[in-house]
Amino acid sequence: MNAAVYYNLEDIRVEDLSKPKAGPDEIVVEMKACGLCGSDLMDWYLRSRAPLVLGHEPTGVVAETGRKVKAFKLGDRVFVHHHVACLTCHYCIHGDYTMCAQFGQTHIHPGGFAEYFRVPAENLQKGTFKIPEKVSFEEATLIEPIACCFRAQNKLGIQMGDTIAIIGVGPSGIIHLLLSKMAGASKIIVSDLIDYRLKMAERFEADLVVNPRLENLSEAVNDATDGRGADVVIVTAPVKEALIDGMKICRRGGTVCLFAPTQPNEYARISPHRLFFSEITVIPSYSTSHVETRIASQLISSGRIPAKDMITHRFSLSRVAEAFRTAAKTKECLKVVMLNK
Ligand SMILES: [Zn+2]
Ligand SMILES: [Zn+2]
Repeated sequence: MNAAVYYNLEDIRVEDLSKPKAGPDEIVVEMKACGLCGSDLMDWYLRSRAPLVLGHEPTGVVAETGRKVKAFKLGDRVFVHHHVACLTCHYCIHGDYTMCAQFGQTHIHPGGFAEYFRVPAENLQKGTFKIPEKVSFEEATLIEPIACCFRAQNKLGIQMGDTIAIIGVGPSGIIHLLLSKMAGASKIIVSDLIDYRLKMAERFEADLVVNPRLENLSEAVNDATDGRGADVVIVTAPVKEALIDGMKICRRGGTVCLFAPTQPNEYARISPHRLFFSEITVIPSYSTSHVETRIASQLISSGRIPAKDMITHRFSLSRVAEAFRTAAKTKECLKVVMLNK
């Protein structure tokens, strides 16, 4: 079967790998669509594990079931979460599922950017479910990214009437925009260096869009908030400057959500003086769990999140290098989806 093998960001090859086989309590899924994620573009995060098959937002059809599998049958349309928590360790009983040691160790094999992938028993039991009938495979690739944002939003405590600032409006920024509105935010300010993305944010009804290359972000936020700053700032750009900007535009007593990592050796200067006297809360949110993926699926099927409108590019597996170029280089896209054809 064909699979897209990642060597580095400039070198992604379609290779012939052996088709996976299901163990007794596993299934094999024929991939139909799989989203390309911002984290698939973080070369520093991936290089030590390369070569590897990426793709952690997969959907498809059950193509083989192990003899002990009862909950799924051939032909079922499914979403599969690549990481699943154990549900019983110290972290899990505190609800910190993404901190569970098992979480990062679980994977689908070889990955979502392949014609077929195997779903191990743990992932099958907790992270796999049927896609609602009216939701397409493409739309369902948004389950994982929406779930990641939804998990962060649950921690942020957005109140009715709040002003939210979002730094970085790729797909995650747009999802945060939509979820913030659902949470009652009255004003959404977004910032991005790419004009294409600011235009898309306008289409999703952002109230104010700022390109910091052309405009001073702090001034724009102050002007829009009677000089206070935003109640909640969500930083989706994976660079330390974005976090520093986020701290600057957050109001006294406000909350900054760190939604993307920087490289491990990067540090951002934060003033404990200001943090203390301004009572700013910093809330990081990494990945998502079996809980939010199921709710995200409902948000898509109910139409509350217009998943389809967020998909701007589709590529067949054979054009994977082009897909990565689009997402990493021009960035003139929102969600990029790989299709198995
Ligand atoms: Zn992702
Ligand atoms: Zn656990």
